[in-house]
Amino acid sequence: MKYNMLNCGGCRSCELACSFHHTGKFEPSVSSLIVIDKEDLRGFTIELLEKSEDDRFACDGCEGLEEPLCIEWCKQKDDLEKYLADFMKKKNKK
Ligand code: SF4
Ligand code: SF4
Repeated sequence: MKYNMLNCGGCRSCELACSFHHTGKFEPSVSSLIVIDKEDLRGFTIELLEKSEDDRFACDGCEGLEEPLCIEWCKQKDDLEKYLADFMKKKNKK
């Protein structure tokens, strides 16, 4: 699922944090969260993966953690938290 995050600065700390959650290493290519550059608009598009694909893991919502790692390291955590909650709600309905 994709979300337009207008105040995302593209630091990609969330990708690093997510990869660490899955593998214990900083390897953004396996992250469940992908930060996509928007050429014409402000901010970035955030994609959260429902299913694993190629080397990437599906987002499990960081089950068991008090705060998901991507949220913990995001400077705009209020917005990212909102998108993650929406993603988990829709994912769990399927
Ligand atoms: S909540 Fe999902 S996207 Fe965020 S760090 Fe955890 S697995 Fe990755
Ligand atoms: S950590 Fe937050 S601000 Fe940085 S790229 Fe990810 S969503 Fe954007």
